[in-house]
Amino acid sequence: TPMRAYNFCAGPAALPEAVLKQAQVEMLDYHGKGLSVMEMSHRSADYVAIAEQAEQDLRDLMNIPSNYKVLFLQGGASQQFAMIPMNLLRGKTTADYVNTGMWSDKAIKEAKKFCQVNVVASDEANGFRKVPDVATWQVNPDAAYLHYTPNETIHGVQFDFIPDSSVSLVADYSSIILAEPLDVSKFGLIYAGAQKNIGPAGLVVVIVREDLLGQVVPGTPTMLDYKIHADNGSMYNTPSTYAWYLSGLVFQWLKAQGGLEKMGEINRRKAAKLYAAIDGSEFYGNPVALPNRSMMNVPFTLAKPELEKTFLKEADAAGLLNLAGHRSVGGMRASIYNAVAEEGVDALVAFMADFARRYG
Ligand code: PMP
Repeated sequence: TPMRAYNFCAGPAALPEAVLKQAQVEMLDYHGKGLSVMEMSHRSADYVAIAEQAEQDLRDLMNIPSNYKVLFLQGGASQQFAMIPMNLLRGKTTADYVNTGMWSDKAIKEAKKFCQVNVVASDEANGFRKVPDVATWQVNPDAAYLHYTPNETIHGVQFDFIPDSSVSLVADYSSIILAEPLDVSKFGLIYAGAQKNIGPAGLVVVIVREDLLGQVVPGTPTMLDYKIHADNGSMYNTPSTYAWYLSGLVFQWLKAQGGLEKMGEINRRKAAKLYAAIDGSEFYGNPVALPNRSMMNVPFTLAKPELEKTFLKEADAAGLLNLAGHRSVGGMRASIYNAVAEEGVDALVAFMADFARRYG
């Protein structure tokens, strides 16, 4: 078997090796059908079975109530920044947004094309290092919805609570969906680009409460209307069939691991080990407020920033890939999604200690 490195990329991110192997086995001849999943009609019985199974497995994993639709769409999480106001304003003219990082900021900028955006709280002036205290939030009871980003992938800032809201909660779960159990019933809509904790790029999953559908802003293109996709089982047009199939394999893998309770346990342990390595050394730093440190995306700095290139080069040579921070913030970042095994974190922690010993 080929040597597989530990991949700490923020996305497209690591996939479970068992999933890739299964895809490899099924690549040329899916279950004796004589063709690859990639070559199947999305209307064929075989493909529809794959798609329905994937949806059911996701529903089981997340315990999604039956009054929610699960959509497998394209356009990434970024397209949701527009689809959300177009579909959820429902006659209202304002929406509430919490700004905790670059992704919430992008969602805000897009929503401004469709409505008046009320930024209820922002940590921008502080460099995005914590979730602003709820006591300071300026919420608007007339807002169509409240949008927030439970985990900011770049700054590594995670909400340690689900906001209490009198209006529908809308959340960008791109980099933290499936990391631990979640009470879906608290939300109007949850969305997540697939390429981090779900599967390959090319797919965005939307989980939306049924009663919010069917009241789009005038002029909304057909393809941007959730109801069209809901009424057509996400097959109004040709979906991203292979990404959907591979995501289904990931869902089955997650079930086999013991589901989201178990993943949460492992993820908390992985993150604790990495933050302990950072906090336990003068050589490494992380600026995020303790309760808001992300379980999935761990940014860190070196006491000697001039050594960053050396760090990355040596990490690469040690089979620890993609540890550079986002180009907008620099430094380092280790994304430790579900598919990054605990041994990968152990290897990174050992490498960091050794590097600090040699260069500190
Ligand atoms: N939201 C969050 C939290 C993200 O991390 C990302 C991607 N890094 C996006 C949105 C944008 O996703 P996409 O590239 O799928 O549009």
